[in-house]
Amino acid sequence: MALLSVRNLQTRFATDRGVVRAVDGVSFDLEEGEVLGLVGESGSGKSVTALSIMRLVPEPPGRVTADAITLEGTDLLRLSEAQAREIRGARMAMIFQDPMRSLNPVLTVGRQMTEVLRRHRKLDGTAARRRAIELLEMVGIPMAERRLAAYPHQFSGGMRQRVMIAIALSCNPRLLIADEATTALDVTIQAQIIDLVKRLQHDSGTSVIWISHDLGVVAGLCDRVNVMYAGRIVETAPVRELFHRPAHGYTLGLMGSTPRLDGTGGPRLTPIEGLPPNLIDPIPLCPFLPRCRVAVSECRQRPPERRNFGAEHWAACLADLSP
Ligand code: ADP
Ligand code: MG
Repeated sequence: MALLSVRNLQTRFATDRGVVRAVDGVSFDLEEGEVLGLVGESGSGKSVTALSIMRLVPEPPGRVTADAITLEGTDLLRLSEAQAREIRGARMAMIFQDPMRSLNPVLTVGRQMTEVLRRHRKLDGTAARRRAIELLEMVGIPMAERRLAAYPHQFSGGMRQRVMIAIALSCNPRLLIADEATTALDVTIQAQIIDLVKRLQHDSGTSVIWISHDLGVVAGLCDRVNVMYAGRIVETAPVRELFHRPAHGYTLGLMGSTPRLDGTGGPRLTPIEGLPPNLIDPIPLCPFLPRCRVAVSECRQRPPERRNFGAEHWAACLADLSP
């Protein structure tokens, strides 16, 4: 059984101009210990997918529905707010691009860490403190014991990111979602954090969803990749397969703009010409059609169905991209 199973996730936002379909029928499984990349341009629905799974979409204006979102058999959509909060600390955790979104500026780092450990792991004060030091050391923060008394603003951006990761990992979550977690960091720190996530994933078997618009990082870190566009998954494949045999015009476009795939970071995607569709109006054909360089005449006649290119590889694209 998959660790996480998402079926027909739809997340909408009511706005003045109409209903935004931010996520429009997303389904995927995440296996135990798997690192799954979620890539796509800005606005494609990556963050909203993550927030929907975490039960962090504000409702209203949001509205999250799905046939199922199950984590280790627990139906996340049926949980009360209090139950969701409990699971968020204990079984799933999320790290954001901006660490201050998860850190409380007026509490010391030590206090924030021990609070989580006391609450979710039922540790007493001394044990929580000891574990907090261990965790800070694990994420590579020197002089961890002394740092417990510091406030988030006394740390550099990279260090804050590490603290946030330490807090996210403090309860040994089964699922870790990292949303552009290293995007704002310089390349060296970015590489260190990626190594850290790899090591933790390897040591504790945590499943990871790694959201990024940096395909280079994804190539170096992930086992499998979901490509998102206009609130949908348009292609999914094992990572090598995706880079060697992209099967969707959109994936091809993303690749064309990513010169380095060696996992060391490197240049970001340069935008594909044209703009993503407005998510308020219905999209009857392929959402990428107006920007696609490989579209065929069929693309203008019917919506694309999924085509299989291997056991774990499909794309919703009618064009033939085989070499
Ligand atoms: P990504 O993370 O891929 O850049 P998002 O998931 O943040 O994209 O956003 C997907 C779409 O949902 C975007 O069009 C965005 O404008 C819209 N969206 C996100 N949050 C809200 C909100 N609170 N209200 C209205 N629209 C939203
Ligand atoms: Mg985002």
